Amino acid sequence: MLARVPCALCGESDYRLLHDMGWRRVLRCARCGLIRADPLPSIEEKVAVETLGYTDETAYPEVRDFFKNCHRDFVDDPVIRGMRQTLADLEQALERPGTLLDVGAGTGIFMHLARERGWTTTGVDICPLTADKAAREFDVRITVGSFEQHDFDSQRFDAVTMLDVLEHVYDPLAALRRVHALLRPGGAVFIAVPNQRSLLTAVVDAYARAGGPWADKLLLRLYVAPHLHYFTPVTIRRLVDTAGFRLHTLQQGKVYLGRYRLSPVLRIPLEMILAAGAAVGMNARLGVLAVKQ
Ligand SMILES: [Zn+2]
Repeated sequence: MLARVPCALCGESDYRLLHDMGWRRVLRCARCGLIRADPLPSIEEKVAVETLGYTDETAYPEVRDFFKNCHRDFVDDPVIRGMRQTLADLEQALERPGTLLDVGAGTGIFMHLARERGWTTTGVDICPLTADKAAREFDVRITVGSFEQHDFDSQRFDAVTMLDVLEHVYDPLAALRRVHALLRPGGAVFIAVPNQRSLLTAVVDAYARAGGPWADKLLLRLYVAPHLHYFTPVTIRRLVDTAGFRLHTLQQGKVYLGRYRLSPVLRIPLEMILAAGAAVGMNARLGVLAVKQ
């Protein structure tokens, strides 16, 4: 038995080892295919790792500029346009803007963009530093704490968004069931996660299995410490089905490298692999819109 913790999606405890990185292993459920980190961090370790991204600029050097555009004078880059498209998709599915809960609201820029389009927004995030900053920058109020435990005063929302959140949670099925409970009947959830069935992941996985000389460094960048689960189109679809949603759309999306700080040695091959992945339907991101039945 590789791990005693049952799979968060199907409850099975039979895993296949994908990678052993020393400090962490990457396992795939033998039954449903959901991929997870093992061991999962303690809550103290998780908070420390997540906070590091905000407090230590050297912790994740490639993404240290990622949030630099999240201020009131932001430039209309592909990430911002992607957020606006998400809001437009929700407005189409629901026929109009309504009440929106952004889980993992972070910088608050998504709430700001939503409000501009007529949504009434509520945000929740585990990080007090980012919530304070969001309040100052965008005048949005973000509740600090665990979205799974906060009761939201029995409020029911028209839409819930989880942008780059589900891969960070211990129990993604429990999180989606919580989303389901917080939505009104007919309400919609939008989930954005990295796509584990991307060409980039396939290339790094194959390179690591072949024992390439930079395998450890590449695995560390792909299977980053804050991510606890890794989703494919198959497993994310099963997850939303099991949580009681009807899948509306499952789309793939590109990663915008303009916000990443990369040396040319990394950037050029990365751009080539991402472009090839897009051409063969193995993009680096997944976007799921699902409706509460
Ligand atoms: Zn499973």
